[in-house]
Amino acid sequence: MTGNILVVEDEVDIQEIVSYNLEKAGFGVVAVDSGETALESIRKRIPDLVVLDLMLPGMDGLEVCRLLKQDATTRDLPILMLTARAEEVDRVVGLELGADDYVVKPFSARELTLRVQAILRRLAEGRDPSAAESDPEAMRFGSLTIDKAAHRVTVDNDVLALTSTEFSLLATLADRRGRVQTREELLNTVWGYDYAGYGRTVDTHIRRLREKLGDASEMVETVRGVGYRFTPRRQ
Ligand code: CA
Repeated sequence: MTGNILVVEDEVDIQEIVSYNLEKAGFGVVAVDSGETALESIRKRIPDLVVLDLMLPGMDGLEVCRLLKQDATTRDLPILMLTARAEEVDRVVGLELGADDYVVKPFSARELTLRVQAILRRLAEGRDPSAAESDPEAMRFGSLTIDKAAHRVTVDNDVLALTSTEFSLLATLADRRGRVQTREELLNTVWGYDYAGYGRTVDTHIRRLREKLGDASEMVETVRGVGYRFTPRRQ
């Protein structure tokens, strides 16, 4: 897998190790150490993905994310957030910022590279031109429609603004409807890896997904101590 990655991180050690590992994995990397220089770099050339540290001197990662999502030319640019504390995760995922994923420091460089690859792979699947037409066989569950070919979810015919991660999570649960999925199974399928201790990642994205689904969120059930299950309802 190839592509150009912009790494925005002011901590020199982390910036270097992330850049080195992404380059080793075949990516082209531009590394900068502030939000301002990141925006400057993106104006010159839009990368395929941004690895964005939350805590930056001056303009922080949330502000950079917000500005990128406001601008039509960079709205769909995937963002992988780096956060220093698990407590920040809710802010990153919860603020409608549209960050595609996040990793909590300290993380292994290999883990970060896997995350980058997983996001780009999901996007490539979603952008497959042969799959751009909407599928008459889209999954319908009452008011909820999941159109995997068009990468689109609607509730009462309103298109939901889901991140690629949320879409993949919902589609996976719906594909396996009626069956309980553990957090590990979901991590494996949706994120492309299974790291112990990342159950919270699944929980956070499920919470966000449910908020967006509104009434249809009833179909995404929590199975205490195990994981999640999609149970279709006719509404
Ligand atoms: Ca930092």
